[in-house]
Amino acid sequence: MIRALKLELLCTLTGPFALRAVAGNANRLLALLAALLALVWTLIFCSEASANGPNLNGPKHIEIVFADSNRPNLRGEVVSENPRYGMLIQTPDGELIAIAPSTSIAKIEAIDEPMQPTDASEIAAKTLALLPAGAKSLSTEHFVVCYDTSDTYARWNANLYEKMFKGMLRFWKEKGLELQTPRFPLVALIFRDKADYIEYSKRDFQGGENTFGYYTQTTNRLATFDLTGIEGVLPPGTKIQREELLGEIFSRPEAERQIATILHEACHQIAFNTGLQTRLGDYPLWLSEGIATFFESADTRSSSGWAGAGRINTYNLQQIRFYFRNRPADSLASLLTQDERFRKGDTSAAAYGECWGLTFFLVKKKPKEFVAYLKKLRERPPGNPSDAKQRLDDFLASFGQDLDKLDKDFVRMMTGLRP
Ligand SMILES: [Zn+2]
Repeated sequence: MIRALKLELLCTLTGPFALRAVAGNANRLLALLAALLALVWTLIFCSEASANGPNLNGPKHIEIVFADSNRPNLRGEVVSENPRYGMLIQTPDGELIAIAPSTSIAKIEAIDEPMQPTDASEIAAKTLALLPAGAKSLSTEHFVVCYDTSDTYARWNANLYEKMFKGMLRFWKEKGLELQTPRFPLVALIFRDKADYIEYSKRDFQGGENTFGYYTQTTNRLATFDLTGIEGVLPPGTKIQREELLGEIFSRPEAERQIATILHEACHQIAFNTGLQTRLGDYPLWLSEGIATFFESADTRSSSGWAGAGRINTYNLQQIRFYFRNRPADSLASLLTQDERFRKGDTSAAAYGECWGLTFFLVKKKPKEFVAYLKKLRERPPGNPSDAKQRLDDFLASFGQDLDKLDKDFVRMMTGLRP
């Protein structure tokens, strides 16, 4: 059986512009980028730039002309620059593009006016080029959904995204954390079948066949496919009623996990675009995944499919209960400091379960501290990786120094929860 969360990829890119895959399926691009990032800072400026000296604190809005004349110029804002890791540029489409230190650059020009984000219609037109011919788009208040499946299915997904968006903002506002309207339209792609989705996913990672969907912090796009399989089964042009569609989805045993995956990935996209988290910021995986699992709960009895914010996640509660039978004494400390637990096939299910439980516990029992912790981490710019000690220190400084007591309280709460 496909374990979507276990095999979920790329929704939690962490580290200094690192393109890490949760399941460890790094593709060639990732390997190449990692190698390039390890090289020294060797930006080559043209004579014009050199005449003024390379201004590493330079213009916020720039255009880069590459020495490779085949590579198109790149316009965007400098998010971060670092001699070791290179430059991180945000384009008007909202993509984050890493420029390795070894990249040969002919010229960097300052652009006087502020960068204008691409509007919804333009970004839809660009995104449709990534889908098979004949694909369509629809826009909601915050999302641009590009799809080549039925209008009904696309609309249902879009409504699900919007419902979660508003629910998340309302939830955090009640906790004292005011989030922002996204600067860029949030782009979601929905392919008509899994084969097309897998083909598309190869640009980001290998192993798409084991997933239902993913969000990538670099492209800022969410991608999934029609989970109903209705397209291709019904004759072309058949109109599908919303009730029929929902019935088809919700009647399946795997429905809860499939819908939870859509919600989980949408949650990542919303978190990284509303200021809850900083894209490519240095977040321990337990936190990013904890937030997404906290909001992912599906409800196959509701017409929208979302159970709402902060409900008990029955699936992950089962995972953590199972894990508790043989939980190591240092489990909490390892969860806080070791992302590897999420990447290894034999430990990831327990790690997801435990991070959901920890997030649930902290949000319920220490909401002010949790919000303060989020605020502290989001202030850190990309490209500043913290080590295990720093992660532990951050946690203890926010939630108290007595980790053993916190762990006992956490286990007691998890043991007593009734789904
Ligand atoms: Zn995730």
